[in-house]
Amino acid sequence: MTNTDRRYRIAVIPGDGIGKEVMPEGVRALEAAAAAFGFTLDLEWHDFACCDYYARHGQMMPDDWKARLDGVDALFFGAVGWPDTVPDHISLWQSLLQFRREYDQYVNLRPVRLMPGVPCPLAGRKPGDIDFWVVRENTEGEYSSVGGHMFPGTDREIVIQETVMTRHGVDRVLRYAFDLASKRERRHLTSATKSNGIAITMPFWDARVEAIAPEYPGVTHDKYHIDILTAQFVMNPQRFDVVVASNLFGDILSDLGPACTGTIGVAPSANINPDGRFPSLFEPVHGSAPDIAGQGIANPVGQVWSAVMMLEHLGEAEAAAAIMGAIEATLVSDNGRTRDLSGSASTEACGKAIASLIG
Ligand code: ATP
Ligand code: MG
Repeated sequence: MTNTDRRYRIAVIPGDGIGKEVMPEGVRALEAAAAAFGFTLDLEWHDFACCDYYARHGQMMPDDWKARLDGVDALFFGAVGWPDTVPDHISLWQSLLQFRREYDQYVNLRPVRLMPGVPCPLAGRKPGDIDFWVVRENTEGEYSSVGGHMFPGTDREIVIQETVMTRHGVDRVLRYAFDLASKRERRHLTSATKSNGIAITMPFWDARVEAIAPEYPGVTHDKYHIDILTAQFVMNPQRFDVVVASNLFGDILSDLGPACTGTIGVAPSANINPDGRFPSLFEPVHGSAPDIAGQGIANPVGQVWSAVMMLEHLGEAEAAAAIMGAIEATLVSDNGRTRDLSGSASTEACGKAIASLIG
């Protein structure tokens, strides 16, 4: 996606808890990059999709949220959820999941990359050893609402929940993953399956991988059953380049991946509508972290790295690379690391250290 006048309208939605603290640092990095690389950002801050808004209005978002966001190029999101006041299923369903659904953000993309300065929970790994992407199908699959609940409360109780895969839905996420792999140095795609146990949907998934692979002759591919794949993430993470998975398997892998590379505070993610018909959404992997909110100690790197993904998506690759370089330099510096990385920098000090290195 490239905008010829290099002017981007961004909806900025900090959300709850530490979302409000890390967002200013994400924006600080974006503004530094815009100044250094000569593009224009129209940032529109929104106070909805957060639990304070719910307290005032009895719902997470205004009825006309779509009109308010009409025409934005991307959504830059912090974190949502404050379980003391709003149950997670309401706060999440009425905000983030609604964006994903309404904007047909059918790809959930997360990098799994071991960064310098971040201690790796897997022994003996160093930066460069772990560097791959998880591509998760984000709209269908196991997370369907097709099913039923019969004879509740009796000893005949039965619950059923169906997995729904469509050829359209599977093919489009596979093509996105193959395409991503085709642009990488190793050009390798790994598919997550379980066709030895799930005998209808997963063989279909496998067959679609084989049907689409010939469109990408430069990309090699293999598949693993999800059980052994999770073990391989931990034992041989260097073997992966791009990993594509259905909604449930992708959900699991996209938490396991960042966990294998250190603190949750640095990991970014993107919910993408690759067609460009709707805006995509960029957010850190972490949640609102009520346990540390309000103290100014949250690590802002996940939010700043999400800005990198957003700029890549918008076609500002040079600016994205500059922010990434600044993140890497800050993670190994003495004064930029936050407490979760055994440093003593505040959220703001870390954000300022990153911004000072952009350009
Ligand atoms: P979600 O809201 O996505 O369900 P969660 O509520 O399970 O996530 P988080 O809010 O991400 O979890 O917090 C999990 C743990 O990680 C908490 O102890 C939190 O303090 C810590 N944590 C999360 N984000 C950060 C961060 N940016 N910096 C430092 N610590 C963090
Ligand atoms: Mg939470």
